[in-house]
Amino acid sequence: MYRKNAWKKYEDKSPIMDFAEGYKTFISNNKNERLVIKESVNILEAHGFKNGDDVKAIKEGDRLYFVNKKKALAAFIIGKKPLTDGLRILGAHVDSPRLDLKENPLYESRGFALGDTHYYGGVKKYQWVTIPLALHGVVAKKDGTVVDINIGDDENDPIVGINDLLIHLSADQMQKPGAKVIEGEALDITLGHMPLNDEEKEPVKANVLKILKEKYDIEEEDFVSAEIEILPAGKARDYGLDRSMVAGYGHDDKVCAYTSLMAVAETKEVEYTSALYLCDKEEIGSVGATGAQSVFFENSVGKLLKLLGNKNVMFDARLALENSKMLSSDVSAGFDPLYAYVSESKNSAYLGEGLVFNKYTGSRGKSGSNDSSAEYYAWVRNKMDEANVYWQSAELGKVDQGGGGTIAYIFGNYNMCVIDAGIPVLNMHAPMEIVSKVDVYEAYLGYKAFLLGE
Ligand code: MN
Ligand code: MN
Repeated sequence: MYRKNAWKKYEDKSPIMDFAEGYKTFISNNKNERLVIKESVNILEAHGFKNGDDVKAIKEGDRLYFVNKKKALAAFIIGKKPLTDGLRILGAHVDSPRLDLKENPLYESRGFALGDTHYYGGVKKYQWVTIPLALHGVVAKKDGTVVDINIGDDENDPIVGINDLLIHLSADQMQKPGAKVIEGEALDITLGHMPLNDEEKEPVKANVLKILKEKYDIEEEDFVSAEIEILPAGKARDYGLDRSMVAGYGHDDKVCAYTSLMAVAETKEVEYTSALYLCDKEEIGSVGATGAQSVFFENSVGKLLKLLGNKNVMFDARLALENSKMLSSDVSAGFDPLYAYVSESKNSAYLGEGLVFNKYTGSRGKSGSNDSSAEYYAWVRNKMDEANVYWQSAELGKVDQGGGGTIAYIFGNYNMCVIDAGIPVLNMHAPMEIVSKVDVYEAYLGYKAFLLGE
């Protein structure tokens, strides 16, 4: 099969580079699901979308969104066709692997104040030590106020981090397998080492608590009802001397979220109702209220039908979903020449070759995968070719090398046509992931073409 390098499609590369600047700003400023949803609402509102919970009735051409518990959202552009003819849905997840502070995180040991964490999603734990880390999240207090925590990304802020053992004393550690070199319970962040002068008991921890009290008006007990995420500090940067790539935290899956968001935001009139679904919790199985398995999206379609004056809302919502087409947009494993042995080269995703489609993901015999139908894949590739979008077809590594999942099967369960579509990433789930700017751009063009597909 002929493979095309997407860079060669462009004489003038400035549209690609310009789009990447917007993306870099987006992921640098919005590193967790709450921040992504907040900024996505800003972008949608700037493109004429209204909060669906504030409107009384809707009609063709209207643009609206619904937010779910500050961590997920669904946005729609009402099409000319009846909703029960189906939607064109772009879905991506906005959570990324990270470390979360435990409910009772703080302790003091030998002059250090430390914070205990529990990792979220699939991480190689050894990648998270001795790098600059930031704290983002919220503390919900008993009086109902919710305090935003944001430490470590402003260049004047302090950072935090996790220790690793010095090489000089690592004789035992270096004999351990990769999964055990850094144990989960050793992922504790250092928060300080200066004691509070007139404090006898745990004076360093007391001093950290005093700082938190002064800055955020929170007490130690408030950590119980908090969501504080420990993430790589610093901005996304150009990668490579040719500035062809972006190095940053959380491309998985904010890169598909941003491209899907911009595709929907910039789309005007549509035949079939366009939908954007940004969901949470994919990295831990798409579970819970804000994950893709939640009834939120289905109920949002129900709300649309209600606002359109439909009488048979819940059944018609199912019908609308059944007749829908979806791109489940999530990152793909990019072929890495340093680790070529995990890939089968004919069926790998290559950086620079455009939007990736995965007919299936899963592991051990496609287990857990939404194996998209041949007919739907044919429809999709025809749309891409008509719009001159460069795309490629890939699976996730060699047979029996490992695997992974996405939100595709969850929407497949509605009996809709779904295929995985996304952007190839290197270093997936590492604190610094890599994408090619041209793939980001092709994905954005591909998502736009999909929304307009008849
Ligand atoms: Mn993902
Ligand atoms: Mn992932």
